[in-house]
Amino acid sequence: MGIEEKLPAGFLLTSVEKLAGYMRKSSVWPATFGLACCAIEMMAVGGPDFDIARFGMERFSATPRQADLMIVAGRVSQKMAPVVRQVYDQMPEPKWVISMGVCASSGGMFNNYAIVQGVDHIIPVDVYLPGCPPRPEMLLNAIITLHEQIQNAPLGVNRENAARAAEAAALVATPTSQMKGLLA
Ligand code: SF4
Repeated sequence: MGIEEKLPAGFLLTSVEKLAGYMRKSSVWPATFGLACCAIEMMAVGGPDFDIARFGMERFSATPRQADLMIVAGRVSQKMAPVVRQVYDQMPEPKWVISMGVCASSGGMFNNYAIVQGVDHIIPVDVYLPGCPPRPEMLLNAIITLHEQIQNAPLGVNRENAARAAEAAALVATPTSQMKGLLA
């Protein structure tokens, strides 16, 4: 968006990418989005024992327009799904999503019509965090994983190329309906 599209390819772009990645990962502001029991563990990372302020993230934003990370903490009901999407749409680019806990990632033990069977049906997810509930240390680990992704995220033409490669890989991937495993 904007100046990013005008950046020239090559050495200069690589340097700008590194600098932008460092600045972005060091200033991620989460949106307040606790949906169920997982949210209690998410709140714990703000306390002195886990101290999310070390990453410059102590400011949980009550408005999506000043947030760039959505931590979906808890099961997503069908009724809440449009709200999740609306809050995500109101967040400015670039933005990231952590799906916290089995319920948010796959519906978990709530295999029924009332719960969305994975928040990635509604919004794109960058990091899936397993557990019921995941411990605060696990959330910190997911945040560090996300930082690595943000640090190495391409910009400009490089981002375009990465998106095309990801799309090509998705088109030749085995459809989920044809995957056979323990539950087949
Ligand atoms: S994963 Fe466990 S702790 Fe988290 S929302 Fe689901 S039931 Fe609650």
